Amino acid sequence: MSEEVDAVVIGAGVVGLACAYSLSQRLDSVVVIEREVGPGREISSRNSGVIHAGIYYPKDSLKTRMCIEGNQRLYAWCETHQVPYKRTGKLIVATSALDEQRLRAIARHAQDVGAGELRLMSRSETKQQEPELRCELALRSPASGVVDVHEFIASLVREIKEADGAVAYHTEVKAIRKARDGWTVQTTDTAGSQEELYTRRIVNAAGLSALDVAKTSGLPDTQPPWQLHLCKGSYFALGAGAPPTRNSLIYPLPEGGGLGVHITADISGARRAGPDAEFIDAIDYSVDESGAERFATAIARYMPGIRPEHLTPDYSGIRPKLVGPEGGFADFVIAHPSSQPGMVHLIGIESPGLTASLAIGAHVSGVIG
Ligand SMILES: Cc1cc2nc3c(=O)[nH]c(=O)nc-3n(C[C@H](O)[C@H](O)[C@H](O)COP(=O)(O)OP(=O)(O)OC[C@H]3O[C@@H](n4cnc5c(N)ncnc54)[C@H](O)[C@@H]3O)c2cc1C
Repeated sequence: MSEEVDAVVIGAGVVGLACAYSLSQRLDSVVVIEREVGPGREISSRNSGVIHAGIYYPKDSLKTRMCIEGNQRLYAWCETHQVPYKRTGKLIVATSALDEQRLRAIARHAQDVGAGELRLMSRSETKQQEPELRCELALRSPASGVVDVHEFIASLVREIKEADGAVAYHTEVKAIRKARDGWTVQTTDTAGSQEELYTRRIVNAAGLSALDVAKTSGLPDTQPPWQLHLCKGSYFALGAGAPPTRNSLIYPLPEGGGLGVHITADISGARRAGPDAEFIDAIDYSVDESGAERFATAIARYMPGIRPEHLTPDYSGIRPKLVGPEGGFADFVIAHPSSQPGMVHLIGIESPGLTASLAIGAHVSGVIG
């Protein structure tokens, strides 16, 4: 006989943990299964740590809805759970006449979708605030900020345990089979020992492996027409000699599957440049030193004083993208197929997944029954 639990969440990244937190507030036994040694070891600890405002995505998309709701939920969570955060605001800069038109369109769109308060700033006003920046126009979004992701993850784990939930590390989901009116989840731990859990609710929040887990659960190949493309984003640390900036978050206009090589200062004030967007065939987190030249060229468009020697390779993260290099917009997929009652698959949860995590968690808890 396999042990029976109310819900199984696969993956202890921010999204899986946020789902487990919401479920644990109304169910007695929620178990998170994670193959790594601890929580948030994959996408969730390899990002910019930015709390986005929901400026760029299409109006009726899940990304817009979940990001705007998640932004508010995340600030409130940080307050009540003593998670370090800063509501720093963010500056998006346009460096050409064409960019200026695009930025004005972005500002109109952001207002239309309700992405918080926004303010356009002229070249001279921006220059006063940021003497090292070169731009024609800037857009300031006060609703954007930064969060200490590790503390956020730790607070979610604490709350899940507080509600009598459990997180099993070193344990990988190998198979999911239909059983009675629910599912059995077969796991193997690092010592090779196999276990089985029976549950009526499964959340597949396996990040880069979410599509593999969906297929393991019996979702036919043709059912998800989705394909995950790995899109690496590398970061370079900005040394003390780099031009000084006052704003914590400085972005160019979005390009090529990412938000453009931007500058962020994390919660401790450490500045970084990145991420770029590079489609890759297999997981590889190495950061190529020679990228400093390319990064400096991209940043120099809005910060001319930057030099390759100001940049040191730092870390990288990998986005689970539902579109390849030529693709346009792809929304988050939150699938609960009628052929799989009680199962929710979260596919393609790239940026703004950190910001949206608490909203996704609440939504999943509502739809899973
Ligand atoms: C470069 C980069 C920058 C980003 N910047 C931001 C940002 O500034 N702001 C923002 O809002 N978002 C950002 N994001 C997006 C955000 O980080 C992600 O959307 C979010 O972290 C995804 O969390 P997750 O829980 O879905 O995935 P993950 O954190 O990857 O968690 C999935 C977990 O599932 C586990 N797993 C997989 N398969 C199995 C299995 N079979 N059995 C058991 N466990 C399994 C994995 O080990 C992993 O821990 C960024 C992403 C990247 C890549």
